[in-house]
Amino acid sequence: MIVAEIQLDDQASPACQSAFQWPDAPEEDKYSVCVHCGFCLEVCPTYQQLGDENESPRGRVYLIKAASEGRLSLDESVIDPVFNCLDCRACETVCPSGVEVGILIEEARGQVFHAEPATGIQGFTQRLFLRGIFPHPKRLRKVGKLLRFYQKSGMRSLVRGTGLMRIMPKHLQEMEAIMPSIPAENALQGLPERIPVKRGPKKATAALFTGCVMDVMFSDVNMATARVAGRNGLEVVVPKQQLCCGALQVHAGDRDQAREMARQNIDVFLESGADYIIINAAGCGAALKEYAELFHDGPVYLEKAKQFSSKVRDISELLVEVGYEPPNGRVDRTITYHDACHLCHAQKIRQQPRELLRSIPGLTLVEMTDSDRCCGSAGIYNLTHPDMAGQLLERKMDDIPTGVDAIAMGNPGCMMQIMVGVHRRKTDLEVLHTVELLDESYQREERMS
Ligand code: SF4
Ligand code: SF4
Repeated sequence: MIVAEIQLDDQASPACQSAFQWPDAPEEDKYSVCVHCGFCLEVCPTYQQLGDENESPRGRVYLIKAASEGRLSLDESVIDPVFNCLDCRACETVCPSGVEVGILIEEARGQVFHAEPATGIQGFTQRLFLRGIFPHPKRLRKVGKLLRFYQKSGMRSLVRGTGLMRIMPKHLQEMEAIMPSIPAENALQGLPERIPVKRGPKKATAALFTGCVMDVMFSDVNMATARVAGRNGLEVVVPKQQLCCGALQVHAGDRDQAREMARQNIDVFLESGADYIIINAAGCGAALKEYAELFHDGPVYLEKAKQFSSKVRDISELLVEVGYEPPNGRVDRTITYHDACHLCHAQKIRQQPRELLRSIPGLTLVEMTDSDRCCGSAGIYNLTHPDMAGQLLERKMDDIPTGVDAIAMGNPGCMMQIMVGVHRRKTDLEVLHTVELLDESYQREERMS
């Protein structure tokens, strides 16, 4: 294993100018707490694959510190490791000093976004998606309608028949192959603004955060979330002016755009008066819980962001917190569970989804090895870094126990990535969200009664 040593003076020269020249830069109190112990190295997927100190959490924190102190300039020696990071936060789970590596990485990417703006086709694509589509629910819905038209009109068969897909990169071909059937209506549009409690006394009001990818690709999961919440004493409200959470923008370094979206979400959800904000997408949930990080330079929204984030709960987290009715419908399946990084590492939610799954009669949960190692999805990492994402996906697929017929998880990005893995392995393993299994059990129980 070749380990590249980082040769730098530990002391910053007072004459050096920081390479981070824009607001919202990585803060000294975040990177200076790293004690270089190296506990994080062995859990870091990129370090495991590459064996390079620069591609480890410790190395990345050191590079960010050096750039911040002006001992390195913002060139590829810093930019590449910062963007090769999956932002999976596995390092944070084991770090004895509490170094917030993920937030440091995101802040460093914000500096790169200003210093080295993407140009050409890459810049156009980035601007189109980060600013032109994702912040606009109507445009996002149009993209969903186009995808549905592509699937239903026969165009898909035509494109496949002409061999056009073969000129696309392999990972895009695979994404096209596994794309779930796009529903005619998403939850943000289709659900009423207020859904009363379905059974028993009302425990609280929960505002449903529908998300962008989740609502275009997997709106069935949002519908299931609303049903399961209503079944367990939660009145569900669906604020119609909500936007995508902004996580993709934060991961890409476009923090100004993310801030703009966060402001609208904070206002819309606080005005709803809901006791909780429920989310079923791990990446979005982590972003919503960290909104305050976007406002630590300005006091206006900081307090509102903290208030907003204090209400955010993953659906599994909230059900266990307020209490849920154990379902009675049998679901005779043997499944395994994949811990989405932003659920287990960023939000520390591991037991709640397992508890819910184990409460389902007939369902057997078989644990997989290294269930909390990243599958390579990591937002759009599988599109921007297909080689590393592909290696991690292979490892994830190798770890799925034999004899299971489904794999459950709590994040749409992981669902799509593992669907690609299933497609590659040509298995009939089903990829499901945890809440879908719970909902199935409740629905079977209702049909029986
Ligand atoms: S575990 Fe934490 S303190 Fe130790 S090297 Fe890694 S980031 Fe630094
Ligand atoms: S966030 Fe993940 S990929 Fe990035 S340094 Fe930490 S463990 Fe490694």
